[in-house]
Amino acid sequence: MTEQRKPRVVADTPLADTVLKLMDNRVELLPWDVALQGCDEPVDGLYTYGHLEVDGSVMDRLPGLKVISNFGVGVDHINVQDARDRGIPVGNTPNVLNGATADMALTLMLASGRRLVEGDVYARSHEFTYYDPGYMLGREIHSETVGIVGMGRIGLEVAKRCAGFNMNILYYNRRERTDLPSELNATYTSFDDLLTESDYVVLVCPLTDETRGLIGAEQLSKMKQTAILINIARGGVVDTDALTNALKNHEIYHAGLDVTEPEPLPRGHELLSLSNVTIAPHLGSATEQTRFKMAELSVENLMLGLAGEPLRTTV
Ligand code: NAP
Repeated sequence: MTEQRKPRVVADTPLADTVLKLMDNRVELLPWDVALQGCDEPVDGLYTYGHLEVDGSVMDRLPGLKVISNFGVGVDHINVQDARDRGIPVGNTPNVLNGATADMALTLMLASGRRLVEGDVYARSHEFTYYDPGYMLGREIHSETVGIVGMGRIGLEVAKRCAGFNMNILYYNRRERTDLPSELNATYTSFDDLLTESDYVVLVCPLTDETRGLIGAEQLSKMKQTAILINIARGGVVDTDALTNALKNHEIYHAGLDVTEPEPLPRGHELLSLSNVTIAPHLGSATEQTRFKMAELSVENLMLGLAGEPLRTTV
């Protein structure tokens, strides 16, 4: 009797222990080098844990590739059209991370508006010797106007949280949504109106050819001088140089960034020296609970694809 070989899967290692446990020795893991250098032996699956680029040339170097499974919902690092052309399904992890990512948007809004990081540094420093009611005045969140660019799965969760803060909600998508809960009172606006009217502009659209550089010098100049820009989408949605200039010149009040372009920024980058920016190292979905659900879903998609069955969630 011939022993069946385990499916061979290229992955960008090291993988988290949770992912490895879920794979439970059911696959033979191959290093990412195989995706770059090619392989004569069949390769059945590709598991993308970080954001390494996967295009048609990578797919063509892996003979017999049946599935690409991505740990995450954003697939801007994968050429989905190339995969479609080759009949390879691409799995991702929508919905399970909506809550955590929306929580992060609110975390950045609150931290940016209320100058939390600056305050933390000051509270720990020797300079903090007395309470002064006049220092570190921030911007309010409650009852202000939020403009959500990308009212999709995560955008809706952001809106629900903002409604809890009694915020006036504007949003911009390419298409108006007719299925939004009426109690949100969310108003569909043009992109320009959203920029000029919002106190908080929250970016939560995918990074595509259309959205790359969506926020540049022109758009920043339309925002209120007191406005706060939040990016929990992808760094490339914002022109980093234009944002650095706008913050340096106080054209807007503050930026709260979960993502940057490039990511990470070079250590000496000017943006990192500014006090009116709050930056997280891409922590949108980074909770123990959510990362576990993402691991479960991405491994399930991988195993389904390897078995030639439809994936639970595809792009
Ligand atoms: P989604 O449900 O597909 O929602 C995306 C929304 O963006 C849709 O409402 C879409 O509406 C809108 N959109 C697409 N292209 C647009 C354009 N050119 N201009 C304006 N709006 C546009 O996706 P999701 O699950 O909410 O995720 C959104 C993105 O968040 C992901 O792609 C990912 O990059 C990012 N993300 C980041 C983190 C993090 O850790 N920071 C975590 C999770 C996700 P229309 O199609 O009508 O335009």
